[in-house]
Amino acid sequence: MSILPQKNELGFFEIRLESIGGLGANLAGKMLAEAGVLGLGLNGSNFSSYGSEKKGTPVKSFIRFCEPRVEIRDHSPIEQPHIVGVFHEALYKTINVVSGLNADGIVLVNSSRDFDDVKQDLKLEYGTLAIVDALTIAVEEKTKVNTAMLGALFRICDFLDPDAMRKVIRKTFEKKYPHFVEPNLRTFDRGYSEVEFKTYHVPEDAQGKAFTRPLPQLGYMTQELGGVITTQANSILKDLSGSRQGFLPKFERDKCIDCAACDNVCPDFCFVWEEGADKRGREQMFLKGIDYQYCKGCLKCVEACPTSALSDLREMIGYADANRVKQNFPYAEGGNL
Ligand code: SF4
Ligand code: SF4
Repeated sequence: MSILPQKNELGFFEIRLESIGGLGANLAGKMLAEAGVLGLGLNGSNFSSYGSEKKGTPVKSFIRFCEPRVEIRDHSPIEQPHIVGVFHEALYKTINVVSGLNADGIVLVNSSRDFDDVKQDLKLEYGTLAIVDALTIAVEEKTKVNTAMLGALFRICDFLDPDAMRKVIRKTFEKKYPHFVEPNLRTFDRGYSEVEFKTYHVPEDAQGKAFTRPLPQLGYMTQELGGVITTQANSILKDLSGSRQGFLPKFERDKCIDCAACDNVCPDFCFVWEEGADKRGREQMFLKGIDYQYCKGCLKCVEACPTSALSDLREMIGYADANRVKQNFPYAEGGNL
């Protein structure tokens, strides 16, 4: 008898992890596949796709399981998963993370919000939503989000053996970093036990989510001769919010001495300044605030600030939009001269 709870027409049980570089989804995918193949004798495969920059760009990790007698001849990205794991909520802004999800599929989200709010943002009509606050667990245990997400994924994939995973964690850390063994085991166990579920009724005629393959804006048919980039100042139009890993800098104007130490270390266009006059009427630049569109959450500015005008803050959905001070680039789309 099969231990896999569901299979598609090719005999595969499929999982897709949606993340950003730096959160460890690639490694989580590998460990999950290993647990099924080495721990349970299933056939399985895993690979990831990510861009040229390793940190901060969208990452997908794909895991396929099937019976040992089934050969895996399908090495394409997973388009109709049974389970989707979302490592970072900011991904909703730019990516349809539930694209192609089966009607009765399960979505696991790293979030501290209510089920109904997350369901609404995901545009999910039915199926099972699983939520684990992996970031809080990782911050409290001083580990990484991926281990807490793995714990939750093991609870969802209840055919996998969590003890096998605990052994893998122990083996991974005990030689080089023995002090990481216990925190990572606790993180895994907390992800396993703290994940919560809510199922939204699946009608009989329910359809899975349509899969949409994102098409590149420029391809070999449309690219200008010589690879000329026709969008002026395209880095100004980029939204880097998805690169933040749960924290952003909070600015308090009344504590700021306008020294610009923050702007010296910031790798992007985040700090917004305006001209004004000091107490003696001399011209001076004053810091107005932060344009979070460009903030990757590196928190270098917080380290550099000599006062406590900048502090790190656990990012809640909506904070950046509500507190953003917009840059004005006059020659870019929407700018004022
Ligand atoms: S955290 Fe600070 S230094 Fe880093 S990108 Fe954001 S504003 Fe700039
Ligand atoms: S480093 Fe701190 S005090 Fe100096 S300008 Fe930036 S926020 Fe203000």
